[in-house]
Amino acid sequence: MHNSLSNLIEIQKEIQLKINTKNSTTKIPKIIAVTKTHPMTSILPIINHGHLDYGENKVQEAMEKWGNIKIDFQHLNLHMIGKLQSNKVKYAISLFQYIHSLDSLKLAEKISSEQIKQNKKVKLFIQINIGEEIQKNGIYISNLKEFYKKCVQDLGLDVIGLMCLPPNNDNVSSYFLKMQNLITNSDLKELSMGMSSDYLQALDFNSTYLRIGSKIFGQRN
Ligand SMILES: *Cc1c(COP(=O)(O)O)cnc(C)c1O
Repeated sequence: MHNSLSNLIEIQKEIQLKINTKNSTTKIPKIIAVTKTHPMTSILPIINHGHLDYGENKVQEAMEKWGNIKIDFQHLNLHMIGKLQSNKVKYAISLFQYIHSLDSLKLAEKISSEQIKQNKKVKLFIQINIGEEIQKNGIYISNLKEFYKKCVQDLGLDVIGLMCLPPNNDNVSSYFLKMQNLITNSDLKELSMGMSSDYLQALDFNSTYLRIGSKIFGQRN
């Protein structure tokens, strides 16, 4: 068995075990296998195993890697998880089913007009700048309600949840808790948080989409 497949199965078991001990009605989260920088030879074993969700952070790389594969495997879900530039939106709408990095009104407007042109809708996560870090992208909590309303009511976007990349120097659980509270107090259901280093903690706060790269495919160069 290829390493990436045995790693994925290991992670799935670990998640199932943790959910069993939580004795709650926690949904099993989806695992987005983050394939950035990794070649198709490492990815195909898990595609053939039946895994459905894949994440990339650059549109250009995603098009080169997934353009043809998506023709043969149309049921796969591709997730854009990185910063999305306005001039790449048309390609992103045509390739991806989910975008996790909706982080500005300008981007929201561009996505809206491109969706109309292509007669296609993607599912969106609003990226929250949960640590209020100036070097990171995302909407501040204080602006979320107004931003969400504009996206949904004025622009017709299909916003399904919230996403964050918490500060990595601090207590990550406190940020995950803030994210969970935002969801509890909204109409949204999905929570995109947790990576290789902290996905089990993210589970404690009912994350529904874990974005896991190196733990499945190994270190990136
Ligand atoms: C690369 C990346 C991940 C996965 O990171 P790992 O530590 O390799 O699991 C998750 N989310 C985003 C936004 C990323 O860019």
